[in-house]
Amino acid sequence: MNSISDKAISPLGGDVHLLGRTGEMFDRMLDSRVFSDHAMGPVYDEAENSFSTHWDDSPDGGKGAGWQNEYWGKTMLCHAGAIRHTRDAAHAAWCLDKAHRFIEAHQRPNGYLSTYAQEDLLRQHPESPDFEQHWCFNIWGRKYTLWALVELHRATGDELCLRAAEKMGDHLVAQLRRLGVALGDTGSWAGISSLSILRPLIELYRLVPKAEYRELAEAAVRATDVSEGPKPAMNLIFDALSDRPVASWFRKPMHLSKAYELMSYFEGVADWHRLTGDRRALDAVVAFWNHLYDEELNPMRSAGYFDHFLGARRRVNGMTELCDVVHWIRLSRELWLLTGETKYLDAIEEAFYNAFLAGVSPDGSWGAHIIRSHGTRHVAAPAQTGMTLHQCCPDNMLRTFFDWAETVAATAADGAWEVNFFSDANIALPGAKIELRGNYPISENFRLRIVAERAGTLRLRVPAWAKEIVVDGVATKPEGGRVSLPVAAGEHTFALFMEMTPRLIDSAAEGPEEIDTVTDLDTQKPKGYTKQFMTWYTPEMEGLARRTPAATVMRGPLVLAKGRLAGTSREETLDFNSVNRQRGWCLTALPEKRLAKNAAPWGAWTLYLEHGKSGCEYVRREIPVADFWSVSCIDDPDNFFSLWF
Ligand SMILES: [Zn+2]
Repeated sequence: MNSISDKAISPLGGDVHLLGRTGEMFDRMLDSRVFSDHAMGPVYDEAENSFSTHWDDSPDGGKGAGWQNEYWGKTMLCHAGAIRHTRDAAHAAWCLDKAHRFIEAHQRPNGYLSTYAQEDLLRQHPESPDFEQHWCFNIWGRKYTLWALVELHRATGDELCLRAAEKMGDHLVAQLRRLGVALGDTGSWAGISSLSILRPLIELYRLVPKAEYRELAEAAVRATDVSEGPKPAMNLIFDALSDRPVASWFRKPMHLSKAYELMSYFEGVADWHRLTGDRRALDAVVAFWNHLYDEELNPMRSAGYFDHFLGARRRVNGMTELCDVVHWIRLSRELWLLTGETKYLDAIEEAFYNAFLAGVSPDGSWGAHIIRSHGTRHVAAPAQTGMTLHQCCPDNMLRTFFDWAETVAATAADGAWEVNFFSDANIALPGAKIELRGNYPISENFRLRIVAERAGTLRLRVPAWAKEIVVDGVATKPEGGRVSLPVAAGEHTFALFMEMTPRLIDSAAEGPEEIDTVTDLDTQKPKGYTKQFMTWYTPEMEGLARRTPAATVMRGPLVLAKGRLAGTSREETLDFNSVNRQRGWCLTALPEKRLAKNAAPWGAWTLYLEHGKSGCEYVRREIPVADFWSVSCIDDPDNFFSLWF
């Protein structure tokens, strides 16, 4: 079916068992968001209930439409992932019982399955002066329902779920034909949200290869590959292949440069390349990723500013939506699978340990909507679109843990066993069992034990920040981001070391940030997310917006941060002064044993900043620091943290 073979084959769900601090977090989230009475009771019920209330049609007096439509699908995508990862037969039976009742109760005979009672309510009203307010998420939400049905089928083999998905696909094709509209003419953000149904549509096509599904997928790709689109968002592939920054692609960037939707769409374009071999599609996704890495990587190592692409690299008030972290990781994962290049794994690792984990509440039950670079706390996900137990971000969180677990290691096309991430884990690959121990990346020293059923090659990823990996005392330089170790059949243990001297990274910002000067060309209204949202749900953040650029410090894949939980004073933590672009600093981080009593950070160090440039006075500063995740993840207005130095 696929024209392109992936460069690596992921382990099956459940073949990677995460241990250590990240494993505990994964287990807590599974317990809380999948297996708890709360998750299987009121949380599930509220998602299904929205298909009866049809609140989405007109949530605020007819001004727009809501997105309760996405929650049943997102909820069941997480349950389907849990079936794969735990192989819990009783839970699979519970999921199928729920899904079958759901299909029976809510899918219309023509296949339509949505929270929107008005089947043909597919579009905003572009003629309205209030255009921006007329949201419509009918197809966006159907995307998640369709996707969940496909994944429930994959996880269990259930035919009824697959037939329901097929009926949804048939209905969508017939509806668009009947109405004479294209996918990109529907939904919010100039069609981008609807176009993102591309990914599950291709997945459905692999299981039910109907020509009309493929034709609809192809139309969705071709629609954005025009030099001058009929609408501002319709030339995404053309724009991606240009050198114009993403933030300049749209006349109304504050409206259309929407990170979650754009990355969701390009994930589908990547899968279109996998299905068809369309080289231009892959080139466009690679180019899009490069735009995001160069222009939009924020200091928490995710992509975007608030929930948009507006030049995040140059922002001095970092903010990133958790959904965007989830999809930055998914997009990077697709490109790793398709190209085998380790730079995508570097991006995943840094996004996961920093932006992602910081956004997960410590008990695993909820998460942040916006993760920020400094202040008192992230913006905990607020009640959204009429729901009380669902929000776009927490409903997405578990997918990243599944994606992470399925990226930790892989089997290469040549049969080599590849290990990508080194946090404690037990891994089963065809022909080998692998154990990782040593608390990487808090520790520079860690070890890998492999029990190989046959002779083979073990390939270890060496991140870009590490020049080499020391294997049993022998420094080894990577080729193509990896070192290869021949392994005879039997049991072997390798002592591994990667040096993690702290790195001072200057800001890309040229000067002070004018925090309200993103201007939509159409409206000429200056806006800025910093100004709008710095104190959103967090009034104690008043006065904590930065204006001046500062540097960040990374140690291995971790962003280091000051903060109350690291033992830094509030004055030092929130100090606006900076060592940015001051050359000659030398950095050392020594492990700190005197940890906070009630919430010990994962990793804590004393950071020594020394400046001894000849002719200058010798300066030495000692700053207590910890990993950004640990100091920032608690939802407490009295907390304080900052990753700026
Ligand atoms: Zn979200």
